[in-house]
Amino acid sequence: MIEISGHNIIIALTIHYVDEPMLLKVRFHGRGGHGVKTASRILGEAAFNEGLYAQDSPIYGAERRGAPVAAFTRISDEEILERGFIFDPDIVVVMDETLLNDWSAKPLDGLKPGGIAFVNTTANSQLYDYGETIRENLVIYDLTGLALKIIGKPIISTPSAAAASKITGIISESSLIDAVTSELSEIGVGDDVIENNIILAREVFRSIPETPPSTKLSDSKRELIPLEVVISYPGYEDIVSVGNSPLRKTGNWRVFKPIVDFSRCTACGVCFVYCPDAAITLRSDGKPEIDYDNCKGCLICYRECPPRAISIEREVRVW
Ligand code: SF4
Ligand code: SF4
Repeated sequence: MIEISGHNIIIALTIHYVDEPMLLKVRFHGRGGHGVKTASRILGEAAFNEGLYAQDSPIYGAERRGAPVAAFTRISDEEILERGFIFDPDIVVVMDETLLNDWSAKPLDGLKPGGIAFVNTTANSQLYDYGETIRENLVIYDLTGLALKIIGKPIISTPSAAAASKITGIISESSLIDAVTSELSEIGVGDDVIENNIILAREVFRSIPETPPSTKLSDSKRELIPLEVVISYPGYEDIVSVGNSPLRKTGNWRVFKPIVDFSRCTACGVCFVYCPDAAITLRSDGKPEIDYDNCKGCLICYRECPPRAISIEREVRVW
């Protein structure tokens, strides 16, 4: 990556294949803290365990918990020569439904006709309206709800990888479980947490239908494409001018929403002081008011409130 005048200039060499080998491209979209990179690594290793070639890489913009992040996994039965961002995925895995409406993420961009969009959501598929093509190839599942139930946290790297693995139709449950175990061990996750992640992976893998995209054998020409210069990429936050952070609403980053019970609030002001995003102001009676357009749901206020006057509830969005 070369930086010129504050812009990230990405130079990517793209090579396509002949003889119709399989080249399956999966793009993950999530938020900082979801485990996006780990999801792409688990998928890549699961494919490797199947005897396939695999390649994975993440891209972060302004690194910050909750900010949009993307990661890429390529799987092939031949050596993979293509590098760089995936602009034309066969499968997109949207780990947070709010990203569908996020101008900086654009998770469905470039999805091939016949490709599959997986969305982690509590919504009913009938409520989506992203065009007939997407609706026909949409797989939805409440990964966050299942993660909360089984591991007690909204960390969805493992179930996202499990969903993607199953959709591909080329990865077995045992290869997935081996990948979950080794990838989570490598980043220092404890055995008991790994056990719960395995339960989570099995549950998702068995629940989601195998839906191989009809695209994975296409693009079969071995030709060298000239070096491509890409200025910025949708899928992560890019800072393109100074002093514009007030324009960015972070309220759609929340998994949980803090709610103040004013009958218990003692107007101590602790939540106001601790909020890292200045999303809390104090009213004239000293009690807090939360700016939900900018509260990113870190829940520090909930943890710090001395009389436990702040409760939380899961965000459920209806499209
Ligand atoms: S959860 Fe609380 S501390 Fe965190 S951003 Fe929202 S209001 Fe601020
Ligand atoms: S920390 Fe709790 S008690 Fe103190 S002002 Fe905030 S909500 Fe009220």
